[in-house]
Amino acid sequence: MIIKGGIVYDPANGIFGEEMDLCVDEGRMAEDGKGEVIDARGLLVMPGGVDAHSHIAGTKVNTGRIMRPDDARLGIEPRSGVCRPCTGYTVPNCYAIGYRYARMGYTTAFEAATPIIEARHTHEELEEIPILDKGALTLFGTNWEVMECVRDKDIGKLAAYVAWGLRSARGYGVKIVNPGGGEAWGFGSNVKGPNDPVPNFDVTGAEIICGLAQANEMLRLPHSIHLHFNNLGKPGNYTTALETLELLKDIKPSRMRQVVHVAHMQFSAYGGTSWRDFESKAPVIADYFNSHNHATMDLGQLLFGSATTMTADAPLEYGNARLTHNKWSNHDIELEESSGVVPMVYFRKMLVNAVQWAIGLELALLTRDPWKVLMTTDHPNGSPFINYPEVITLLMSKPKRDAEMATLHEQLPKRTSLGGIERELDWTEIAIMTRAAPARILGLEDKGHFGPGADADISIYDLRPEEVDPSRDHALVKKALAAAKYTIKSGIVVSQKGQILAAPPGRTLR
Ligand SMILES: [Zn+2]
Repeated sequence: MIIKGGIVYDPANGIFGEEMDLCVDEGRMAEDGKGEVIDARGLLVMPGGVDAHSHIAGTKVNTGRIMRPDDARLGIEPRSGVCRPCTGYTVPNCYAIGYRYARMGYTTAFEAATPIIEARHTHEELEEIPILDKGALTLFGTNWEVMECVRDKDIGKLAAYVAWGLRSARGYGVKIVNPGGGEAWGFGSNVKGPNDPVPNFDVTGAEIICGLAQANEMLRLPHSIHLHFNNLGKPGNYTTALETLELLKDIKPSRMRQVVHVAHMQFSAYGGTSWRDFESKAPVIADYFNSHNHATMDLGQLLFGSATTMTADAPLEYGNARLTHNKWSNHDIELEESSGVVPMVYFRKMLVNAVQWAIGLELALLTRDPWKVLMTTDHPNGSPFINYPEVITLLMSKPKRDAEMATLHEQLPKRTSLGGIERELDWTEIAIMTRAAPARILGLEDKGHFGPGADADISIYDLRPEEVDPSRDHALVKKALAAAKYTIKSGIVVSQKGQILAAPPGRTLR
């Protein structure tokens, strides 16, 4: 296959919007090619999108589906062509996940939290998600064996356990969620920060995090530890974030990458002492990332409307349930982890929700290096992934942000710096945050770029970067991003103008 004349953004290879041809041979990028020609003259061409943090498979996703028949009805698409039937908006069924990511030009997505003992279910669902290459991060943060190794200061044994866990669960990397919190939750409590002792184990969250980080580097895993902080979702929690990041700054990475990837930073960049004086501390967090190189983050951007929160942070979900009086599920996984699911609606007129919305955008715009920030919504916690084009256009257009802010709570400008931020991201920065950086942060050498031998995952958008001004024409950009003109996965055209043409099975990376 030859893709002719596209305006190519491949920042990992130093290509920033150059007109060039791309060649594909046997599912991989090649120096030259023959056969099918795709005319991409003047159109935006990027590597297939890579989502490093999304909740797409496993028991908590399925619990969300079972809890929300209302949500299933929102996204019904009958069977047609190669497509099986689809349901759901915030918690789509397996088929919808594959098709909807592919329509937007995404070709890879990682499930962010799987307990070892429930990994079989996760893999059953991953197998059913068409088109995408997938992976699953394995939970280790509140695991009895982990805590015993940490208490005994036996990092070698801990590394052996992590290796066993990843192999047994067919996991890709080490996920840590509110370390110690799940164990405390078993006694109706929570840990208050990284230095709070975990009941019955004589360890702290800080020791668990550092122990797992050392074990991760001892194993030379492609990805760093992937961390959901203590105190997530609580006013004033930015200090917990900074304190935890400081713990890790002297750990030496065993590969050319970060030592810690912070999940959905938006939920941990909160100031104030209560929801009444709640405010953004995104500028402080962004400053920290600007002056340190051991950490990366994904946004966990929040958008207004329906969401379903689901996390291994069980005490957080108990709190969400008390706050919303909504449907609620909490779950304890013997010896390992816990989790919870609560449906949520984020309101434009609610000041707290407006500040949360602003924080994600501030983080992306105030962190200077786009290689440190991934665009995510922590699907479906902040918003379903189907709304990525809305996030991208907000990052690319100051007028769009201003227009949006004008409709929000009048107190908002006092609680966030967003109104004063002039920066508008360009296509290179978007290609980094949605393709090149997630691939590099995960350690996926064949993804997120067009070098020879890379996976031929390609998205071509019906958008002329040399003519369209995303600042002004944001509506046009959003429409183009929602349905790629072509999505090519491993050299096969899987989607064209929003229509799924082929649904090959993807791989599971482990
Ligand atoms: Zn998450």
